[in-house]
Amino acid sequence: MFGASSESQRGSRFCSYAVIMRVLVVEDEERMASLLRRALEEEGHAVDVARDGPEGVWLATENPYGAVVLDLMLPGFDGFEVCRRLRAAGVWAPVLMLTARDEIGDRVRGLDAGADDYLVKPFSLLELAARLRALARRDDRVRPVLLTAGDLKLDPAGKRAWRGELELDLSPKEFSILELFLRNPGVVLSRSQIIDAVWDFAYDGTSNIVDQYVTYLRRKIDRPFGRDDIETVRGMGYRLRQPRP
Ligand code: CA
Repeated sequence: MFGASSESQRGSRFCSYAVIMRVLVVEDEERMASLLRRALEEEGHAVDVARDGPEGVWLATENPYGAVVLDLMLPGFDGFEVCRRLRAAGVWAPVLMLTARDEIGDRVRGLDAGADDYLVKPFSLLELAARLRALARRDDRVRPVLLTAGDLKLDPAGKRAWRGELELDLSPKEFSILELFLRNPGVVLSRSQIIDAVWDFAYDGTSNIVDQYVTYLRRKIDRPFGRDDIETVRGMGYRLRQPRP
């Protein structure tokens, strides 16, 4: 069933229903792990992969993931144990558990251990994407419906953003960076904080990429409006100006 094309939009425009997240995949089987990574990246997500239970727990407690795709049978300790340890550590990222068909009796145990949903192998990539979107929407219920600062407005669930009445046409990364700024108005964000939140763990390039994307973002949200809301804080990073009262 793998190989089914994903329904993602490959261009830089968002689908109105897409939810872009940083996702952790915990899967020891290499072929499956790389298929999952590719499929999720095509959806626009940033993806990290852990190869065993302990690494999965470590990454998920160190990084803010929007969702965890967790295989049941893993070296070290299994998916149930990963899930229990995450919940015990106060990590509440939605968990989608992957089980083989002959492990289906384990479904209830998985949900008991704190998984939010499960998917039986083999599954289609369309189904995986749909389940993740459903989990992300569920997670969004506790978040504010709209993030605002002055006349900047962003809808995290709907993936839309506006300056005043004008809708902004942002790429997924630009959108994620703007969302990060709007969640932290007036706070100086360092380049590495921005990379951690928006790019995945495998990203080992320079922090120049942040400067590049901030330039793109300014061209879309500031310059056309004669504004200068994204402020450079020399030697430290960037800050979204607090709106004037
Ligand atoms: Ca496995």
